[in-house]
Amino acid sequence: IEPELTGDFAQLMEWADGVRRLKVRANAETPLDAKTARGFGAEGIGLCRTEHMFFDDTRIAAVREMILADDEAGRRAALAKIAPFQKADFVELFTIMEGLPVTVRLLDPPLHEFLPHSEADLAAVAAATGLDAAKLMRRARELHETNPMLGHRGCRLGVSYPEIYEMQVRAIIEAACEIAKSGKPAPVPEIMHPLVAKGEEMKFLRALTDRTAKAVLAEQGVELEYQVGTMIELPRAALRAADLAEAGAEFFSFGTNDLTQTTFGISRDDAGKFLGAYIDKGIFEKDPFVSLDQEGVGDLVRIAAERGRAVKSGLKLGICGEHGGDPASIQFCEQVGLDYVSCSPFRVPIARLAAAQAALAKT
Ligand code: PEP
Ligand code: MG
Repeated sequence: IEPELTGDFAQLMEWADGVRRLKVRANAETPLDAKTARGFGAEGIGLCRTEHMFFDDTRIAAVREMILADDEAGRRAALAKIAPFQKADFVELFTIMEGLPVTVRLLDPPLHEFLPHSEADLAAVAAATGLDAAKLMRRARELHETNPMLGHRGCRLGVSYPEIYEMQVRAIIEAACEIAKSGKPAPVPEIMHPLVAKGEEMKFLRALTDRTAKAVLAEQGVELEYQVGTMIELPRAALRAADLAEAGAEFFSFGTNDLTQTTFGISRDDAGKFLGAYIDKGIFEKDPFVSLDQEGVGDLVRIAAERGRAVKSGLKLGICGEHGGDPASIQFCEQVGLDYVSCSPFRVPIARLAAAQAALAKT
């Protein structure tokens, strides 16, 4: 059921919208999440995690085939199987969003989530692809990482294997062209690169994105705007934000889940095992993965905003980590002057209210 805000609740939201400055978007990658987000009043998608589009049983074999391929030809063969459903997914999302902004984050595995987890998984890939199971097994062992969250993930994959990001950019732009040609409101796709740390990385990714997008637009005979930006998830990216803006990022989205992980050096997947003791002893007031640490992590957000905007005054700034739906964190985002927050669809009403309270608290 698609939510619809009615009565007093709808009235309260309308009042909140009248005073807030921050835009509120949602993190969504499925049609259901996108519809839920719109029902709750989201003004766009701030984070479409494309790797989440690949976990489906019918798709994971092609993705595993791509990851396990040991040469470019093998990867391209697998990508050719993925491209049609990737494009169809974007057509559906853009249609639901009716011209509202959609930020598509290019593939950010971590690799261990995609590698076959068992011999049965490997056998399934072998059966689906006709590839030799022993060879696949050897490749899976080669790809195993000791510390996958700091490993071959995010844009590092796009740098090593540009054909993966080229397929995704092509699918995004082809989908946007299809919408534009049909006469429906076309989105301005925002293509976002994950886990960028250096200006040179951004330059490489910007060139890859432009080259691919321009080729598609020429083939389709369509004129369409798109934007290219980056997540800020690493302390180095925050400190060197000016390099990233200079290298062509038109927007920054703070990935505060990873930024919290990398600033504290605390694994986001393991924090639950010991953070309770820290909170009990008063060392942490709150879980920094839930409510943004307004000191160290906050300093990095502020520095990135200032340094990025010093180079590019119109740089668009948002947050798409879990903190984007937390009222105290939203108040901080207002103070730093971000343009939008993006949170899970069910938190959109809370975010609208918190954004209004934050604006009132500032005046
Ligand atoms: C983040 O790191 O805050 C983020 C939004 O990306 P993900 O949670 O997908 O790593
Ligand atoms: Mg992240």
